[in-house]
Amino acid sequence: MSQGPAPSRNPPFTVGLTGGIGSGKSTVARLFETRGAGVIDADQVARQVVAPGTPGLKALVEAFGKCILDPQGRLDRAALRDLVFRNSQARHRLEGILHPMIWEAIDHQKSTTKAPYCLLVVPLLVESGMQHRVDRVLVVDCPEALQRQRAGARDGVSPQQIQAILEAQAPRGQRLEAADDILDNSGPPGELEPRVEALHRRYLEWAATTGDR
Ligand code: ADP
Repeated sequence: MSQGPAPSRNPPFTVGLTGGIGSGKSTVARLFETRGAGVIDADQVARQVVAPGTPGLKALVEAFGKCILDPQGRLDRAALRDLVFRNSQARHRLEGILHPMIWEAIDHQKSTTKAPYCLLVVPLLVESGMQHRVDRVLVVDCPEALQRQRAGARDGVSPQQIQAILEAQAPRGQRLEAADDILDNSGPPGELEPRVEALHRRYLEWAATTGDR
């Protein structure tokens, strides 16, 4: 794990929260939010930038055609997934369109927050190589067996489906290597609170000393 962060390049001070499926990201994000962190959910932003009537959706239709729309004119995610599946050129094109829009929307949300610091929840932060976009990478971690068990109980999906998602995500070791801070979520939920509290205090301190506000 690294030392404290350098001055924030893009205030407010932003912690990127990541972790594999079922590791506890949403649970941890709620604990930070109740303490006053400004939580931004990158997946939610990614849906907003391609909502009906947005420049994002228009750009996607221009690039991939109307076959990516459902009969109501909304983005047909399954159709888009099929289109870029095993086609790295199409996937890069898609990312080239979406990523700048998503980060612009995130920067906008950051600029309007009144919170002392932001917690940006990005499930695929390490996979997308976007660590440089945040001041600090916080990985919530537990053994894969617990991830499987908790995600299965939450979503009611099959072990095969969970396995496929796990395989599409970065291996645990790679994610931990990218971490500045690690939040161990292998114990009962009650153990999370004091760990979150300790991190929150550090982030408040750093937000006060590294931001230019
Ligand atoms: P993620 O957002 O990373 O997919 P969640 O926060 O939704 O993970 O957690 C997955 C499931 O496991 C949820 O149902 C959550 O309530 C539960 N959970 C999270 N942490 C713990 C824990 N320490 N002990 C038991 N269950 C947990």
